[in-house]
Amino acid sequence: MRTQIGIVGAGPAGLLLSHLLHLQGIESVVIESRGRKYIEERIRAGVLEQGTVDLLVESGVGARLKREGLIHHGIELRFNRRGHRINMHELTGGKAITIYAQHEVVKDLVAARLEAGGKIIFEASGVGVHGFDGASPTIRFQSEGQAGELHCDYIAGCDGFHGICRPSIPAGALTEFDRVYPFAWLGILAQAPPSSNELIYAYHERGFALLSMRSPEIGRLYLQVPHDEDINAWPDERIWGELQTRLAADGDWKLTEGPVLQKGITGMRSYVVEPMQYGKLFLAGDAAHIVPPTGAKGLNLAAADVRVLAQGFAEYYASGKTRVLEQYSRTCLRRVWKAQRFSWWMTSVLHRFDTENSFDQRRQIAELDYLTGSRAAMTSLAENYVGLPWD
Ligand SMILES: Cc1cc2nc3c(=O)[nH]c(=O)nc-3n(C[C@H](O)[C@H](O)[C@H](O)COP(=O)(O)OP(=O)(O)OC[C@H]3O[C@@H](n4cnc5c(N)ncnc54)[C@H](O)[C@@H]3O)c2cc1C
Repeated sequence: MRTQIGIVGAGPAGLLLSHLLHLQGIESVVIESRGRKYIEERIRAGVLEQGTVDLLVESGVGARLKREGLIHHGIELRFNRRGHRINMHELTGGKAITIYAQHEVVKDLVAARLEAGGKIIFEASGVGVHGFDGASPTIRFQSEGQAGELHCDYIAGCDGFHGICRPSIPAGALTEFDRVYPFAWLGILAQAPPSSNELIYAYHERGFALLSMRSPEIGRLYLQVPHDEDINAWPDERIWGELQTRLAADGDWKLTEGPVLQKGITGMRSYVVEPMQYGKLFLAGDAAHIVPPTGAKGLNLAAADVRVLAQGFAEYYASGKTRVLEQYSRTCLRRVWKAQRFSWWMTSVLHRFDTENSFDQRRQIAELDYLTGSRAAMTSLAENYVGLPWD
């Protein structure tokens, strides 16, 4: 098989790249280790920055997003049993975030690719990338019991943090920047109408909690737990009890409970690899960087990377020039590091790092008090949360 761009991974990065390339008349094949049903049901992120929404809409895959997405103009920070609204819309000159689950974005992109005759090879095994340091980049894999070989001009490694593309780059060519946090998020999906129209980020002496949502009927809620926590130690009643405690507020606000549809624990990590390119292999999305989910940046960074990569390939096929491709890593990393800073900062402000240390607790409360009382501080949060400019 031969194509122009071989893409490993049908997550948001790989699918969106394939779609954007198609719009430029550039051929690609996506090779994915999981089945279509699995990737279309995988529960992950759900907060889309304004720029990500605009990109999806402008590229023609935003119809359902516009119909079903929930537009939020603000978020609430809650501490000492009181809520403080950050009016992002007003502070950013009219920007907003949209709640639309990552697996819905994936469904829309898969549908668009297949409808346009795009090729996605699902359930590929033994995927390997070869020849990307020379003139013959090749992806080898097994599909339906047959060995496959995809020859291409370039390879896009969009296979997430645990994929094979990044580890295929020779040791020593990449520098890793890594921070692992001493806690994780226990997340639930619940058949319970969200008890707030907007997200609530709660700081509590027992740890962080987040009230989020996926639709007007389905709530998504999170609790800070120790990094090595066992999910079996958290029956549903314990989860709701802890959420009730950490989200409690004075007044008549109530947290509505309901059946837990899904639950899981996700570790928290900040990670960047530099550069995001080696020879004819380009890394995008989680393959190159991951953020703790507090800033809601993971999926948005993946979209930002492939937007630049698609521009680079478009320039190359239109003119033979590689100016944008050569700058790919530098262009993306500037924005990636700003999102890393913001995600780390949100995490450090809202989580208990050392439950014994009362100095830290007082300092964090003072920071939240300052943050919610200063227009300058609120503006800084708001402009990062809705998404910094692409370029
Ligand atoms: C459990 C979990 C929960 C998360 N929750 C949030 C959240 O609440 N908010 C937030 O902002 N972010 C969250 N994130 C982060 C966000 O989902 C990611 O940043 C986003 O998925 C990045 O997209 P991607 O396409 O780069 O990678 P991925 O979505 O990981 O896609 C990579 C794709 O490559 C495939 N693949 C892997 N290895 C191979 C291989 N060898 N061969 C072929 N295909 C392969 C995978 O199956 C997958 O489909 C979460 C991440 C995880 C893991």
